Amino acid sequence: QHVANPYLDKLIALDRNHLIHPVAPWRKHEQRGATVLESGWGAWLRDARGHELLDAFAGLWCVNIGYGHESVVAAAAEQMRKLPYATGYFHFGSEPAIRLAAKLVKLAPASLTRVYLTLGGSEAVDAAIRLITQYYNNTGRPSKKHFISLERGYHGSSSTGSGLTALPLFHRGFDLPLPTQHYIPSPYRYRSVHPSDEALIAASVAALRAKVAGLGSENVAAFFCEPIQGSGGVIVPPKGWLKAMQQAARELDILFVVDEVITGFGRTGPMFACDAEGVEPDLMTLAKGLTAGYAPMGATLLSERVYAGIADGAPAGAAIGHGATYSAHPVSAAVALEVLRLYEEGGILANGQKVAPHFAAVLDGLADHPLVGDVRYRGLLGALELVSDKATKRGFDASLGLADRIFETGYRNGLVFRSFGDHILGFAPALCFTEGEFVEMARRLKKTLDDVL
Ligand code: PLP
Repeated sequence: QHVANPYLDKLIALDRNHLIHPVAPWRKHEQRGATVLESGWGAWLRDARGHELLDAFAGLWCVNIGYGHESVVAAAAEQMRKLPYATGYFHFGSEPAIRLAAKLVKLAPASLTRVYLTLGGSEAVDAAIRLITQYYNNTGRPSKKHFISLERGYHGSSSTGSGLTALPLFHRGFDLPLPTQHYIPSPYRYRSVHPSDEALIAASVAALRAKVAGLGSENVAAFFCEPIQGSGGVIVPPKGWLKAMQQAARELDILFVVDEVITGFGRTGPMFACDAEGVEPDLMTLAKGLTAGYAPMGATLLSERVYAGIADGAPAGAAIGHGATYSAHPVSAAVALEVLRLYEEGGILANGQKVAPHFAAVLDGLADHPLVGDVRYRGLLGALELVSDKATKRGFDASLGLADRIFETGYRNGLVFRSFGDHILGFAPALCFTEGEFVEMARRLKKTLDDVL
């Protein structure tokens, strides 16, 4: 039950003055102030003014199990009571971190056997870059320093990882990309000139080949990709694309890194998006659904070949100089173990698969709306791309501020989602959504689009 917070206005004034909201226009935020969220249960949120919201974005595509799971709270509390901290440095360890690493190896594609536990996705990507560099240096191929990723890709905002991110917002003012960071076109079916899925896949493969040829395979370390691009606008490639890119990377003698920070843990149906196509990457990055947002944690998974190259190539007895105080944090690991139990034994993964057709129906139901140009989804990850002209696929003038308007209107109508660029609405409901909640989502979403027409 909502109890009014008598200090809310004071709190918002403090927020305006002190708390940086990273991916927001800072000065504009000072004017606007924060929307303070107060509590959550299942797929629902309540803000500090008592407004109830259906969260169709699982926080930031992470709260896959929904809010308010007492067993996760209990797992965290128990671990905090017993041992709140154990360094993963040197030879120390903790039971939950060790069990979590073993569990991830069991769940992940068979190629991945070693786990580095981080505090989130950006650090997982950053670790992957550092470890790949170490791998090639230690295995006698130090010229392999260039990285390739996809246009519209998002790989976090660490100082080098944000160069693999190919969204101009994350480069502007940060002197990125680095000279060793390169992009190939996104497999963006809706805006592609290629006439078929096969042609689009072939074009991606050809672009990777051409980029590697231009740089020289002996200079290229790895290709990074998301199986479905999230922050770039939920770009769903054709089935078979991921497998074709893995095959190409292998032939080109570069490492294939799959960033499943969003797509992992049932978001697209199976536990990992790689599973749908039998893809076995050399490295995989994870976060978000790993702890379902209840505590910060990410992971970088390595193949035995990459692990051995690093371990055996280092000077005998020397440590590998990469780690953080909170690597393999026991409380986050205890949370992750319980979250993984809920996906499997708690039936949450199965529920996500069961309700996915209702999610599809919500989005398909809006295909004929005058604002909607494209509908795309896989599992519980989807988007509506809005256009001002369906025939020409022309978008909207950024000066209209459509994305902000739609977000604010959705919020007023009690629905949370995200907008990307100025015209793509992204959705990532928790895997615990019910059929009834999708009916409610459809009603609120249609009203929102009608309101801004
Ligand atoms: N990689 C992908 C695909 C992501 O979507 C994100 C975050 O949205 C990241 C990496 C970075 O993760 P984090 O925000 O936990 O640092």
